[in-house]
Amino acid sequence: MNPQTSLPARPGANRPHNPSIHPELTGALRAAVAEKAEAARTLLADAVAEFGAALTFANSLGAEDVVLTDLILTAALPVESFLLDTGRLPPETYTLLGELEARYRTRLTLYFPESDAVEAYVRAHGVDAFHQSVELRRACCRVRKLDPLRRALAGKKAWITGLRAAQSPTRDGLAQRENDGANGLVKFNPLADWSEAEVWAYIRIHDVPYNALHERFYPSIGCAPCTRAISLGEDIRAGRWWWEMPENRECGLHARHP
Ligand code: SF4
Repeated sequence: MNPQTSLPARPGANRPHNPSIHPELTGALRAAVAEKAEAARTLLADAVAEFGAALTFANSLGAEDVVLTDLILTAALPVESFLLDTGRLPPETYTLLGELEARYRTRLTLYFPESDAVEAYVRAHGVDAFHQSVELRRACCRVRKLDPLRRALAGKKAWITGLRAAQSPTRDGLAQRENDGANGLVKFNPLADWSEAEVWAYIRIHDVPYNALHERFYPSIGCAPCTRAISLGEDIRAGRWWWEMPENRECGLHARHP
């Protein structure tokens, strides 16, 4: 028996607290999701055909990424999936990682920050220095996310992300396929035109595991100290680096160079 299936349920993990992640599954919504899922599957299969092992999937385990995980693995597409483990992720994210690995009988590739770089940053600035300035926050993201991302993308020619255009003003006009000038790669965003309701409808219809924090009004989940719950009606990225101006709220993983 898989050890994951014998774990006791987390208290409240599946209790529906957050109505925005429980859309009414109308016929129109189901049809839209089925059509977009088919288009996403085709894009992913084309990406595999074009890039083979030089294609990778940056899986942050967010709602969009569990949809992509399901699309990729149920189609048995040979795509490596990696997670940047910053060392500051919330416990719920590790729980989800175990659930996904058990459900799909797979193993994600984890990339960790270089310990020397983390030690130097903390020694110079303090353990939670990212709250002090945009510069120190970006420096922390560089050490814990961007440098490991460079290692994850080394030797690759293309990558897949769960970005959606509607997530943030910084993602307006996002295409399903774009040239990622910052990393010198082709970037596939199969869910670029999906709405939040469509993402959650897919999760409900296919019973995909998801992060328990979503039920507690965390629409976008990153590192624990840099993510908070949002209020109903707030922008879905409002809980990320909330002490900064909206135009600064990117970690640099998805810098855009038109
Ligand atoms: S999100 Fe916060 S803790 Fe995580 S790498 Fe960026 S600044 Fe550091």
